[in-house]
Amino acid sequence: MRLILVGPPGAGKGSQAKLISEKYHIPNVSTGAMFRKAMGEQTPMGQKAKLYVDRGDLVPDDVTVGLVAERLQEEDCKNGYILDGFPRNTFQADSLTELLKSWNQGLDHVLNISSSDEMVISRLTGRRSCPRCGAIYHLANKPPQRDMLCDNCSNDLVQRNDDREETVVNRLQVYKKQTEPLLKYYREQGLLRNINGEQSIAEVFVDICQVLEGKR
Ligand code: ADP
Ligand code: ADP
Ligand code: ZN
Repeated sequence: MRLILVGPPGAGKGSQAKLISEKYHIPNVSTGAMFRKAMGEQTPMGQKAKLYVDRGDLVPDDVTVGLVAERLQEEDCKNGYILDGFPRNTFQADSLTELLKSWNQGLDHVLNISSSDEMVISRLTGRRSCPRCGAIYHLANKPPQRDMLCDNCSNDLVQRNDDREETVVNRLQVYKKQTEPLLKYYREQGLLRNINGEQSIAEVFVDICQVLEGKR
């Protein structure tokens, strides 16, 4: 099963990708997580990405497409994968279409997780995450069991630099201008499935499973 998750920042893509990955045993390929790892390790690619990520702009396509092309050829992607956060503009979508064609692969679904601006802003500003294991929390919606410590690995939780309100506004604009056109692109290919992201995490996951299992 090969899936793409699209939706504005904060819609819940990462949270759902984790649940899908566990239930269907396919890896979650998150470009944002790959950039954050490289930034944390201060690799040359990470240092370059940081200039864009911290402003809420897209990392240049040559870097991003190359990264994804390599990742999708790894062994664990043989039986499918979830693309969370890629593609994010038409150039990336065209590049992915070409890559898939050259590998004789097709996509099963593009899940569009939708949410209003007000809702995503409150989700992003309340988001906290674990820099060690990547677990995602929310101050009000999904608080950790112990104050600001990860439930899985006890690491201190952090707020992402790009989740501060100034950057969030730019990320939303970038989404509308560069990523939203992809909805039409995938709708025309008959792949787009709309998911109401304004429900609880569990309810959104039920809707996704129904789509993946052909029940709606
Ligand atoms: P969110 O899940 O909140 O939408 P991500 O973790 O997907 O955020 O992305 C964080 C940042 O990483 C983006 O704002 C952007 O700077 C960079 N990024 C992630 N994916 C891509 C991509 N496909 N193309 C360019 N930049 C990307
Ligand atoms: P994205 O990857 O699309 O940026 P995340 O999955 O990281 O989104 O979720 C953004 C924030 O909103 C996180 O703090 C997460 O805990 C919270 N969240 C995600 N989905 C929901 C939901 N359905 N209801 C309430 N809070 C949610
Ligand atoms: Zn952790």
